Amino acid sequence: MLAGLCGGLGAVFGSRCQVLRTEPLPPRAFHAGRQQYSSTEILAGLAARVIPDSSRLVAVTSSDLFVPVLTFVFGEAQLEGRCAVVSTCRLRQEFYGLPADAKLESARLLKETVHELGHTFHLAHCENYECVMAPSHAVEWIDLKSSTFCEACRPRVPS
Ligand SMILES: [Zn+2]
Ligand SMILES: [Zn+2]
Repeated sequence: MLAGLCGGLGAVFGSRCQVLRTEPLPPRAFHAGRQQYSSTEILAGLAARVIPDSSRLVAVTSSDLFVPVLTFVFGEAQLEGRCAVVSTCRLRQEFYGLPADAKLESARLLKETVHELGHTFHLAHCENYECVMAPSHAVEWIDLKSSTFCEACRPRVPS
């Protein structure tokens, strides 16, 4: 799945993508009461791991993520940094009691990852529902949009 994501990201951003070795989530990011991981805590630990000469670092986890004001998040990005984190937990059909669909899950993961990376390039949410920068508060919204930037957002992404 990560190899597929890498290929997708390379195509969208026109750059090289590399899968790094799997690392455990920082234990301090786990919230026992919510049984979820704090995306902000995960991001805080990521910055030190950005490899020299690389532009961005994205962590992909199967664990469910949250920020304090929301029930969950699909991902979070550093608006003033180079890191993002995304979760596959709620991108899986099984989460909603539906049969597994690997292709759909991969498509959702690519869109969510491109979206969070867009935030690291200082892009805000877009009103064009087909643009990858459209906000998604439910998985159905992710399915509506494409994995690419609209004409208004595209020029703001370095290539
Ligand atoms: Zn967003
Ligand atoms: Zn847009």
